[in-house]
Amino acid sequence: MPKCSQCGKAAMFEVGGHALCLGCKAKVDQMWQAELAANVGALNFALGMAEAQVGLPGMFPRFSVPHPTIQQGPVSVNNITVSDSVVGAINTGQVRQIELAMDRIAQGGDQELALSIKEFAEAVLEEKQLETQKKDEILQYLSFITAQCASTKLARKPSIAHVVLDRVGQVVETAKDLAPLWMPLLLKLKTFFQ
Ligand SMILES: [Zn+2]
Repeated sequence: MPKCSQCGKAAMFEVGGHALCLGCKAKVDQMWQAELAANVGALNFALGMAEAQVGLPGMFPRFSVPHPTIQQGPVSVNNITVSDSVVGAINTGQVRQIELAMDRIAQGGDQELALSIKEFAEAVLEEKQLETQKKDEILQYLSFITAQCASTKLARKPSIAHVVLDRVGQVVETAKDLAPLWMPLLLKLKTFFQ
C-alpha cells in the first residue's frame, strides 16, 4: 500500500505526483477552495464596481462564492439554491442581495430567521403555479425585508415593512403551496418589526 508523502499514512489519492492520505488531500482541497473563493470574490467585486459606476446595483449576476467545507462555528447560512430551469428567468442579483442580508441576520444571532427566509425563497423560486413576474415581485419584497432585518434598529422602517409583508401575503395567496412556509415566517417577521 503506498504511503502519504506528507505524513506516512495509507495514501488514497495522487496530487501533483505525490501520494496523499485522506487528511492531507483534504488540506490541499481546502487551499484550492480558498484560492478559488478569493478569485471569485475579486470578480464579484469588479462586477459591483461596474454596477456602482452606472448606478444600477444588482444588475449583473454574481458567481456563487464556494464556502469552505471545513468551518467552525455559526458563520454562514447556505446559499439559496436555484435550479437550472429557474436561473435564467429570475433576477439573480436580487437573490444575491437576499443571501447577503441572510448572512448578516445569521451572524447577528438569528439563524432560525435566516433559515426560514432561505426556505421560503427557495420555495418561491421553485413554485410552479407562480408566473416569473410574481416570483420576481416576491423576491423584491424579500430583498427589502431581509435588508431591513439586517439593518440596525434605528435604520429600520417598520411601517413600510408591515405594508410589504401584507403585499407578500396577497401574492402568496395565488400559490397555495407557499402558505405553509409563509405563515410561520410572517409571524416571525411581524414580531421582528413590532
Ligand atoms: Zn497524509
